[in-house]
Amino acid sequence: MEEKNIIVFGHKNPDTDTVCSALLVSMAEVKKNRAVDAKVLGALNKETEYVCNFLQIEHPPIIESIADSQKIIMVDHNEFSQSVQNIENANILEVYDHHRINNFRTRDQVLMDIRPVGCTATILYDRYSRIGVEFDFEMKMLVISAIISDSLLFTSPTCTELDKETALKLAQEVDIDIYKYGNDMLSAGTNIQDFTDKEVLNIDAKSFEVGENKYFVAQINTTDIDLLITSRGTGFLKELTKIKEDNGFNTALFLMTDILNSNSKAYIVGSNEKQIVENLNTTVSNHIINLPGVVSRKKQIVPFL
Ligand code: MG
Ligand code: MG
Ligand code: MG
Repeated sequence: MEEKNIIVFGHKNPDTDTVCSALLVSMAEVKKNRAVDAKVLGALNKETEYVCNFLQIEHPPIIESIADSQKIIMVDHNEFSQSVQNIENANILEVYDHHRINNFRTRDQVLMDIRPVGCTATILYDRYSRIGVEFDFEMKMLVISAIISDSLLFTSPTCTELDKETALKLAQEVDIDIYKYGNDMLSAGTNIQDFTDKEVLNIDAKSFEVGENKYFVAQINTTDIDLLITSRGTGFLKELTKIKEDNGFNTALFLMTDILNSNSKAYIVGSNEKQIVENLNTTVSNHIINLPGVVSRKKQIVPFL
């Protein structure tokens, strides 16, 4: 599988920021006469599908692995455990991201723009507009959509002034009601009817290495956590336990986040269950932990693993 062009992609189990950011890099680079093909590492979720349908953009092709020395640009991630197969042997040219840096290494020099903001697309907009790349309607909508998704429409503690300012400014320029569009987009992502329990756990799943331990932390947005638990909870817990056992995770968590009230509950199984519950300063009953005010995996869960 010889790839001639540079390729750009985000993390496995792609979310809206990952997909929009890959598309943005590709579209912006075209304007600089540099061919960069956007790819994804898996099927799009319902929220991202909504964005692509709205903009009538084709889903980027899915890849699972890359050839040795493939030139790549990484967006919205840098941890190899969240990346493509054979990432260790890639020629990493650039990284645009807003996550912690963990186990990252390259063979050659690399351009990195990593900032503590709420969304990769915010960084890309700032970067490319500074060098004179013009953002058309489609590109502006991609930035807006990514920011809405990662910030849960500005309600997440990960959301910074720059994210909000950028999204509001662009929404004005394209003349959309960002709250209406944002709510429609986010609620599209809460529809899990078509998914098996196992598929739900993999819609937005990430693995994290902390010291010797590997953790699985999945998340789903919902408008009714308790309904989700009564209707599908038994299946979720069974699948979560299976994922933990089959893949050698120390502990596995599945966060269900109420996007209307900014709260979460999570299923937790594994040997560090007790320790994590303690670190999070909460209580557990039947493997369900209560997480009032928690919406961000990155800021409010991962640091406590
Ligand atoms: Mg992401
Ligand atoms: Mg992101
Ligand atoms: Mg996310």
